[in-house]
Amino acid sequence: MIQTQLYIDGQWQSPIDQGTRAILSPADESVIAQAAEATRADARLAIAAARKAFDGPWRQTTIRDRARLLNKIAELIDRDAEKLAQLESLNTGKTLTESRTDMGDIAATFRYFAGLVASESGAVNEAPHHVISRTLREPVGVCGLITPWNYPLLQAAWKIAPALGAGNTVVIKPSNLTPLTTHHFTQLVAELDLPPGVFNLVTGGAEVGAELAESLDVDLVSFTGGAYAGESIMKAATGNFKRIGLELGGKNPNIVFADADLDAAVDYALNAAFFHAGQVCSAGSRLMIEDSIYDAFISRLAERLPRVVIGNGFHGETQMGPVQSAQQHEKILGMVQAGIAEGARLVHGGKRPAGDVFKKGYWLEPTLLADVTAEMKIAKEEIFGPVITAERFRSEEEVLRAANDTPYGLAGAVWTRDLDKANRMSRGLRFGTVWVNDYHPYFPEAPWGGYKASGIGRELARVGLDEYTELKHSYINLAPKAMGWFGA
Ligand code: NAD
Repeated sequence: MIQTQLYIDGQWQSPIDQGTRAILSPADESVIAQAAEATRADARLAIAAARKAFDGPWRQTTIRDRARLLNKIAELIDRDAEKLAQLESLNTGKTLTESRTDMGDIAATFRYFAGLVASESGAVNEAPHHVISRTLREPVGVCGLITPWNYPLLQAAWKIAPALGAGNTVVIKPSNLTPLTTHHFTQLVAELDLPPGVFNLVTGGAEVGAELAESLDVDLVSFTGGAYAGESIMKAATGNFKRIGLELGGKNPNIVFADADLDAAVDYALNAAFFHAGQVCSAGSRLMIEDSIYDAFISRLAERLPRVVIGNGFHGETQMGPVQSAQQHEKILGMVQAGIAEGARLVHGGKRPAGDVFKKGYWLEPTLLADVTAEMKIAKEEIFGPVITAERFRSEEEVLRAANDTPYGLAGAVWTRDLDKANRMSRGLRFGTVWVNDYHPYFPEAPWGGYKASGIGRELARVGLDEYTELKHSYINLAPKAMGWFGA
């Protein structure tokens, strides 16, 4: 049985009150680990350690030291990639193929930020000849990093790499449903010769996250998760006006015009919605199809859905695993029922698959609800499960208005062969990422984040490093002279 601990001030330790939490397999509800469940008191210790480390010798590290550190972490991730992928699949239920892809992306994220950090340089500003004026980038300080359960280590990497690379110290709090890969990652960091307190792990629930958001000793909090927690973090952060980064949910349109390559569009409608059983913040679950191809498109999806192989993520043939928790399972089924009650047509799924292996665990069939309209709850709210809702549209103007008519603005896609239309739609959609004739690709070089209620700030890309830095104007007068302005 896996047992996890907290990592505070360079020491592995149990929570002060010895709290633990049983971690369940989403595939069969068996107990796979006993995880340390911290409280606010443990979070305070971790914050104090990070504060002390930031105010100590860590401030003297150079960009070369930190770039080397990130590259070293990438090497250790490569070394343990298979172990990490297995832990991620065990804990989240996603297929091993998806988890292996995540680990490759995580190592790439550390290498990308290593390169970026190494290329950092301040700017010398134009100034009078006796003045040296420089713009310097400095670390923000102690960073509280709070991550969700759907991409536990990937979301952590997007935060840890730029935070450490920019010279900050870190307290990370993964979701208490999925702490296993972040715990193993911490074991990798513990192999390195970092000063105590630079990197701290506190596993626990909302109260630990709230402590990070409220603490006056935390300078920045970066959060990925739902809108409800995001709102309370934003409010808590006002105590010391700490920096905040929020990566929240989405209601992401996948828009198919009649002139699209329909073979590709049908295939990607499934990829968009069913990777990690739809538990992806950018999942393209809101399918919008042009009227003239709507019926044929729905028929083609209906043919594919029964062939989706549902099963344990460790089996090679599995295409879709379970959802992560009982709570999620119940919520998704409730959303499907709400859709049907509002008049949507259930084409496929909407229930637990048949068979003994699916009796325990959080299993759902891939689901297609057709004839959805923009007013229905399922067209407005994030479902976060393996559900496609299909809407019909008649014009470019109509679909643009409907797609934008949501509080969210994370990601979306457009399928068309018409370049003018592709360009107009890319400009018109108010989302942080707009794909044309594709769905889901992202990479460390491009920014990730949302408009509107999908968040504040961006991760990845240069901006994802800048979020972890303060800008300072350093002004040095080499030839001071009395001005005689007052009372001379
Ligand atoms: P959640 O908001 O319940 O939890 C996220 C994290 O916040 C967890 O670590 C949780 O313990 C912690 N937390 C909960 N309440 C808190 C509080 N009051 N103060 C501080 N911390 C608190 O979200 P979740 O259910 O774990 O994740 C699913 C959500 O995350 C979805 O809405 C999804 O769209 C979103 N998400 C967004 C992105 C993105 O890049 N925009 C990526 C992945 C997931």
